[in-house]
Amino acid sequence: MNKILNLLIVTILLFSCMPILAQEQNENLEIKKYFNNPIITDKFTADPAALVHQNKVYLYTGHDEAPDDFHFYKMNEWLVFSSSDMLNWKEHPVPLKVSDFKWAKSDAWAAQVIERDGKFFWYVSVTHGSIGGKAIGVAVADNPTGPFKDALGKALVTNDMTSEYTDISWDDIDPTVYIDDDGQAYLYWGNTVCYYAKLKDNMIELDGPIHTVDLPNFTEAPWIHKKGDWYYLSYAFGFPEKTSYAMSKSIKGPWEYKGILNEVAGNSNTNHQAIIEFKGISYFIYHNGSIDPNGGSFRRSVCIDALYYNPNGTLKRIQMTSEGIQD
Ligand code: CA
Repeated sequence: MNKILNLLIVTILLFSCMPILAQEQNENLEIKKYFNNPIITDKFTADPAALVHQNKVYLYTGHDEAPDDFHFYKMNEWLVFSSSDMLNWKEHPVPLKVSDFKWAKSDAWAAQVIERDGKFFWYVSVTHGSIGGKAIGVAVADNPTGPFKDALGKALVTNDMTSEYTDISWDDIDPTVYIDDDGQAYLYWGNTVCYYAKLKDNMIELDGPIHTVDLPNFTEAPWIHKKGDWYYLSYAFGFPEKTSYAMSKSIKGPWEYKGILNEVAGNSNTNHQAIIEFKGISYFIYHNGSIDPNGGSFRRSVCIDALYYNPNGTLKRIQMTSEGIQD
């Protein structure tokens, strides 16, 4: 008798719950379509860099591959996505891996792609196989989605080239490249110390000495962009990282610190920005750890929100949103 009663109760409960479950599922679907951040949810992406080229945006990211029980970066390749509207992103075949650099050992860390004279140059952070420490390599391709190949056959920047500034072995990372209005290209990079040097027109050799920039609480992730007469140097500030920025009338400085641009991004101890303008709208592209239930610092996701300028050229603080960029 008890068994029959139990079965009856379970059956009643099951059927009475079904409409609620169905309703919740519908609500989740309904809610989900309003949330565009993170922009990629089928894999973990980090350290975004973006390039505007011929009415499209190309988004280059690292690929966080660390399993749930692995509490450090596991990154072997970079990824590329493209979009015509900042809403719909198409992933292309894997364009570049650490193993494409014969001299590199591991760690597909932050990178940036820039176009010059119809060629696409991809500056990357990796661990050097024989010299040790981190290093910057450069790959080249004839189109923005690759495939890319090592342009130099060796590192462009190695750890020993900056040892007069710091003993740490991971300071030569996070390259950002900017071609000034007169055609002179500059490579900025660094962790703990912010470095810059001129690049030759071939984009694969430094042209002259390495300089440093003095910025408060500089951690890493410099990004150079220009709007009007102002140059902006944004960077990861402190740790856990916020994004701060400085402004200058010249790419060579002096840089004036302007404050925090973005707060610590949810569930991630790093913060890594790319800033672009596309079809007249400015975008702040970054990563957070919002879709990793186990803590996102090593399983990150790229997000996009709007960037706004004040009339005097300073930047309004970023509002990170779940909704992201809307139609
Ligand atoms: Ca160094």
